[in-house]
Amino acid sequence: MLNGERQIPRPLRWAMIGGGRLSQVGYKHRSGALRDNTAYQMVASAFDIDAERGRDFGVNLGIAPERCYDNYRQLLAEEAKREDGVEVVSIATPNGTHYEITRAALNAGIHVICEKPLFFTSAEAQQIKALAEKKGLIVGVTYGFSGHPLLMQMRAMIAKGDIGEVRMVELQYTHGFNANDSADKFSDAQKWRVDPQVAGPTFVLGDISTHTFYISQLVLPELQIESLLCDRQSFIPSRAPLEDNAMVLMHYAGGAVGRMWASSINAGAMDSQCIRVIGSLASLEWSDANPGELKYQVQGQPNQVMHHGMPYLDASALADERLGALHTEGLAESWANIYLKFAIAISASQRGDKARLSNLIYPDINAGLEGVRWLENCVRSADSGSTWVNYQ
Ligand code: NAD
Repeated sequence: MLNGERQIPRPLRWAMIGGGRLSQVGYKHRSGALRDNTAYQMVASAFDIDAERGRDFGVNLGIAPERCYDNYRQLLAEEAKREDGVEVVSIATPNGTHYEITRAALNAGIHVICEKPLFFTSAEAQQIKALAEKKGLIVGVTYGFSGHPLLMQMRAMIAKGDIGEVRMVELQYTHGFNANDSADKFSDAQKWRVDPQVAGPTFVLGDISTHTFYISQLVLPELQIESLLCDRQSFIPSRAPLEDNAMVLMHYAGGAVGRMWASSINAGAMDSQCIRVIGSLASLEWSDANPGELKYQVQGQPNQVMHHGMPYLDASALADERLGALHTEGLAESWANIYLKFAIAISASQRGDKARLSNLIYPDINAGLEGVRWLENCVRSADSGSTWVNYQ
């Protein structure tokens, strides 16, 4: 169980790029990183595309005014001159800027925590992976809900054979917030999401399916996609060529099959992501609408609901528990867990502790790269008439 006690020798000097006052995701980063004051200290920022607003916001959050920078280039240059300069930056800017900012930060010798979808192409992700390896730096990716303890429970039960042989993986991340085009006109955060120059080659596939895709990799680390078919639509025509709805069928090596539905036009839906893994003996199902419960359904027996924080869970799930059973653990605790893992990874890499790094499970550069690869394969299939394509 986590209680906020220090897990690394000292808090890391941390800065944010993007994630400013009006951003959708910025607070999730700060709440995740600063949940345990033993992991990070927020010492610098370039919060906003509007430098003045970014500086004002940084000062209001308690950052020293001289370390609230106008832009990321200034932040990297000035912090490099300080003995107590930042060690890790989080990048929470729109997708099209992730690659250049990540590359610049790594070149400045700074560890990176970056938003998804990581980059536009897997070639970019491969370059960044090579650069991070050369520099001995960590790149973490904020698949926010992936730190929930019950996902570690799911992983452990599947590995132990509790559901038998895996036959099907059902994945869903859908909402209805873009069922009409009003946000496309009035919300800055939605405008860039349907602009391929800024969002990249996808809308909902990159924006939301990458989260659930990573969760499928987390709970089923051995499963490899062999081929897929992606069918995507722009129900609001002005969003074309970017999709607001997509369905993907997958064939995995070994005969299992999978299905992903990603949508922002699921009108009225207020749940979002769900993963159900169906085995030859039983199924496991978790949804972020009710994250503290894991359904375990054994064929021929009454259904079971496993609750977070209970002693019958696997040690790996209990290790990531924060609040204890009865008290809902959700998105905020999950973000705190992944941020803590990033800190442990960064500290281990600083101290050359390869053993610690090798057994740490968190969304790293490979997870970011796999997310981009997933998107490339989906687009290739969709754009060739929604045909089956070999997974590359
Ligand atoms: P947003 O448009 O709401 O906010 C973007 C923020 O970045 C703003 O503060 C803006 O001023 C700032 N910004 C833009 N360009 C900048 C630059 N060059 N330098 C410094 N700051 C800059 O966007 P958002 O919805 O917060 O999304 C940001 C990123 O986070 C995207 O990649 C998105 O996919 C991702 N996201 C992830 C999650 C998650 O759960 N992990 C949730 C929402 C968004």
